[in-house]
Amino acid sequence: MSLTPEELLRSAPGKVRERAQTLRGQITHRERQGETYRSRVRGSRPAPYRVRINLQNGEVSCSCPDEYNAICKHAAATLIVLQDDPGSFLLGLPPRRLPKVDGWADADVERLLDRLHDLYPEVVTDWARQLTHDDEEEWG
Ligand SMILES: [Zn+2]
Repeated sequence: MSLTPEELLRSAPGKVRERAQTLRGQITHRERQGETYRSRVRGSRPAPYRVRINLQNGEVSCSCPDEYNAICKHAAATLIVLQDDPGSFLLGLPPRRLPKVDGWADADVERLLDRLHDLYPEVVTDWARQLTHDDEEEWG
């Protein structure tokens, strides 16, 4: 049984949820792979924080330094948007199907694709669908 964003949001303290409301507009990237949702949220550091939410097992993680709250404001903001507008999370690239580029590390290929996805989400999403057509069921 997978969880709903509402159920996960309940484990965030009220204060965190309040601050999350103001962060909704800072979410720069949204994607989904099956039951896993990823976002990037602009914060106080130059690089955005990366949030990952798995509705299948309820795992929530963020790259920010908040270790005090089980669900930080970035994850809470992502959950709020996921609850209100799940369709805004575009189908992402399954990481194991990253194309090989000679002389490039996987992380560099991923960064390039991330950047392209930010600029041309429709094109990259379309291409990702073609790449993963063979095992589409697995990625649902
Ligand atoms: Zn965070």
